[in-house]
Amino acid sequence: MEPQNPNLSAEAMYSWIAVDEKRCNKCGLCIDMCPMNVLDKGSRGYPFARHRDDCWYCDVCAFVCPRKAITLTDMPYLIR
Ligand code: SF4
Ligand code: SF4
Repeated sequence: MEPQNPNLSAEAMYSWIAVDEKRCNKCGLCIDMCPMNVLDKGSRGYPFARHRDDCWYCDVCAFVCPRKAITLTDMPYLIR
């Protein structure tokens, strides 16, 4: 898959959990609130989908983010 956004880290690029590093302050709230423990801090401190096969596409991570830094993209067709 081609990177969608050159501003995203490599960890974020290949996931439908897109984290805008210009907005994210690395607070970790999305990691704590994900009901499936999908997210973890990456090497640079930004969240990424470490266990992405467990993701329910519930959107909680995007909803709780105080800085609106998370966008769910490229979800499987049937989920949209
Ligand atoms: S909740 Fe938002 S600001 Fe906090 S770590 Fe997650 S993406 Fe970054
Ligand atoms: S969409 Fe839901 S299950 Fe997937 S990473 Fe976000 S909070 Fe976790």
